[in-house]
Amino acid sequence: MFDTTARHVKPALNLTLQGIAGSPGIAIGKAYLVEQEDIDVVEKRFVKPENISGEVRRFKEGVKKAQQQLQSVIEEVPGELKDHTYILHAHMMLLKDRMIYNGTIEHIERESVNAEWAVKIAVDEVKSIFKKMPDPYFRERASDITHVSKLILGNLLGAGPSNISHIDKRVIIVAHDLSPAETTQMPLEKVKAFLTDLGGQTSHTGIIARSLEIPAVLGLGNATQLIMTDTLIIVDGSAGVVIADPDEETLTRYQERKDLFEQYQAMITRSSHLPAETTDGFHLTVMANIEVFEEVVSVIDRGGDGIGLYRTEFLYLNRPTPPSEQELFDNYRDVAEIMAPRTVTIRTLDIGGDKFASGLELAEEMNPALGLRAIRFSLQSPEIFETQLRAILRAANLGNVRIMFPMISQVDEVVQAKQMLNQAAESLEKGGIPFSPNIEVGAMIEVPSAVIMADILAKEVDFFSIGTNDLIQYSLAIDRVNKQVAHLYQPLHPAVLRMVRRVVEAAKEAGIGVYMCGEMAGDPVNLPVLLGMELDAISMNPISIPALKMLVRMLSLKESKLFLEEALKQPTTTEVVKLVQDTYGPLFPKAGFSQPSQD
Ligand code: PEP
Ligand code: MG
Repeated sequence: MFDTTARHVKPALNLTLQGIAGSPGIAIGKAYLVEQEDIDVVEKRFVKPENISGEVRRFKEGVKKAQQQLQSVIEEVPGELKDHTYILHAHMMLLKDRMIYNGTIEHIERESVNAEWAVKIAVDEVKSIFKKMPDPYFRERASDITHVSKLILGNLLGAGPSNISHIDKRVIIVAHDLSPAETTQMPLEKVKAFLTDLGGQTSHTGIIARSLEIPAVLGLGNATQLIMTDTLIIVDGSAGVVIADPDEETLTRYQERKDLFEQYQAMITRSSHLPAETTDGFHLTVMANIEVFEEVVSVIDRGGDGIGLYRTEFLYLNRPTPPSEQELFDNYRDVAEIMAPRTVTIRTLDIGGDKFASGLELAEEMNPALGLRAIRFSLQSPEIFETQLRAILRAANLGNVRIMFPMISQVDEVVQAKQMLNQAAESLEKGGIPFSPNIEVGAMIEVPSAVIMADILAKEVDFFSIGTNDLIQYSLAIDRVNKQVAHLYQPLHPAVLRMVRRVVEAAKEAGIGVYMCGEMAGDPVNLPVLLGMELDAISMNPISIPALKMLVRMLSLKESKLFLEEALKQPTTTEVVKLVQDTYGPLFPKAGFSQPSQD
């Protein structure tokens, strides 16, 4: 049990902090505060001309030492984390990134400043590019640059990397931020949960915590200032809530929730390989969204029926030139072969605007979310596009692969993309290279114009995949990464429901498949309406699959259809949410979910 003696002297504070739900689950335990060396405060010094080359040398040695430090971390990564060493390899490449490495040297030489200052300036420049990216995954990569620059600065300032490998009891880690190197160095069997001031859903701490099923709450702002080592805390990773110094009643309540959650997890894991079939026999295909090959294992473990969205951007990042056809083919083939006979849906490159890839020449844009992104970029970069199309067609010969184009806003874009696909097929044919000519072609529906044109678009493709992350952003005019308007980002907004319904109807009328791969599909609260729509498949973060499949098995298609009709009559999100709550509320706690809310 917990040591509660101190509470008799001083009343409990019950200090509640709200952060971002990084990884689900409940943990109760003592905090362990990870102190950070303060290397953010870098002083500017001018260097005499005769000392410039020495300063450049000092910088190069700092980078070299950082490479050696990362190499030894990579060598010591424990078995269960080997899948995540790609992050550390990416950091290795970032150390030599042209903009950071050459940029720092140029600043030292041009402005006669000390190496620390030059690193800070070069890194700030690169970070500002990342921070403007519309996609949260890429925006979050700014933190990778910070971690890498801290390694270099630590060496220049003689601070050395922080060492947290010595934790000797099971604790809740509280840190300002954690680099992947720090996370992987921790004795993870001693970590009950992670709390960080910085970071969001897509930060590496979140990704690693989710894959290891350790609860995490991120983006807490100032947790490190409010929580001290040994403070008793409750972490609710599903709700993003932290309670420091809880009273007895709160402790008991969360202990019960923790037991319920764990029982529920054990139950859904046991049942994750059963099909997602409703009580009246309707089978919903439940697939996974992945970003890197390494996630395939977790998709299979969690009973995913296939890959509904393979975001292919990762292979284009942190490198001087775009990947070759062979490299792409090897990667796609591996995913296709391991998943076979299940389907793998490869989305062509969704990069551009300010979505950054060091090997690609991209212009600065005022409004990157409305700029040269996704299919627009691919159609204007025929060489890069053709290379990817050839690789996908070749991989399709070795598995059940289909292709889809992102951010379609005009019928012409689909027509042109298909022409290029045909050209790629012809060139493979001429070269005698094996490929599949029968690949299914889909369009992502994530722009309002595509919703309106769905009946016409449906004549051009074999399936639609509704990307609600962008569809909500573009239709409700809510920047998907802007915290200020996050409360208005509402998947159950009547306008969103009507748009989804329209797309499904157009697809059914044309006899083509219709899927959903936005985050909306992975939240159990939205399932009754989505089931009522009769989507053919939903695709989500692999970790959400078992719970979603379980909930499908508790619902009936017939009732969900009637429920959808009621939901579509509601004038506001609040009313739709209330309807979900009134109708399905009792099911959510039974299935271990939190009650639906409007936040
Ligand atoms: C979407 O927009 O819903 C989607 C799945 O694509 P992404 O999140 O990669 O933009
Ligand atoms: Mg999108």
